Amino acid sequence: MMSANSIDKCPAITTPEYAFIGRSNVGKSSLINMLTGRKGLALTSSTPGKTRVMNYFTINNAWSIVDLPGYGFAKLSKVEREKLKERIDSYLLYRENLTLVFVLIDCRHEPQKIDVEFIQWLGENGIPFSIIFTKIDKISNSKLKTNIQAFSNKLSEDWEELPRMFVSSSDKGLGKEEILNYIEEINNSL
Ligand code: GDP
Repeated sequence: MMSANSIDKCPAITTPEYAFIGRSNVGKSSLINMLTGRKGLALTSSTPGKTRVMNYFTINNAWSIVDLPGYGFAKLSKVEREKLKERIDSYLLYRENLTLVFVLIDCRHEPQKIDVEFIQWLGENGIPFSIIFTKIDKISNSKLKTNIQAFSNKLSEDWEELPRMFVSSSDKGLGKEEILNYIEEINNSL
C-alpha cells in the first residue's frame, strides 16, 4: 500500500485506476477491505473523516483501487477543507490513468445535496463514474428500492442517462462479485 498527499506525489502507475469516494462514514474503508479481501488494509475509522491522503491498493499488478479522502470533511477548518478539495479535484481532473470513479452513497438516506452536487461536477467534467449504494443490510428491500428510485429521479432532473448503479453490504459480503466483474469487464475493454 502506498500513500500520496497530492497528484504530483501519486505513484507513476500506468495501469487503470478506480477511485472510491463518498462522505465520511459512508462505508468506504469497509467496502475496499471487502473488495481487496485483505482485512485491515484500508483501516476503518471510528473517527469519521480520518482518511486524509489517497491510499493505493494495486491488485495483481494489473489495476489499482484509489481510496480518496471522504468529502464533507466536517471536522476540518475551512482552509484545510479547501486545500483537500483542491487536491481531490486535481486528481480527478488530471490523473490520466483514472478509469472510473465509484461514488459511494449511504442507501439509508434521501438524496443528499453534497452527493448530488459532486455527481453533477463529475458529469460536467466528463469524468466517468458509477454509484454504489452502501450498507444495504441496514434497510428493507422495499425501502432500498424507494431510495434508489428517489436518487435516480433526482439525477434524471439533470441527466438523460443514468450511471451504472451497484448495491453493497460489507457486513453481508454483498456486491463484491458485481463490482469486481464490472472492473474486470472495463479492464478487458481497454
Ligand atoms: P468510511 O469512513 O467511509 O471509510 O466508513 P467505514 O468503512 O469506516 O464505516 C463506517 C461505519 O459503518 C463503521 O462503523 C462500519 O462498521 C459501518 N459499516 C460500513 N459498511 C457497512 C455495511 O455494509 N453494513 C453495516 N451494517 N455497517 C457498515
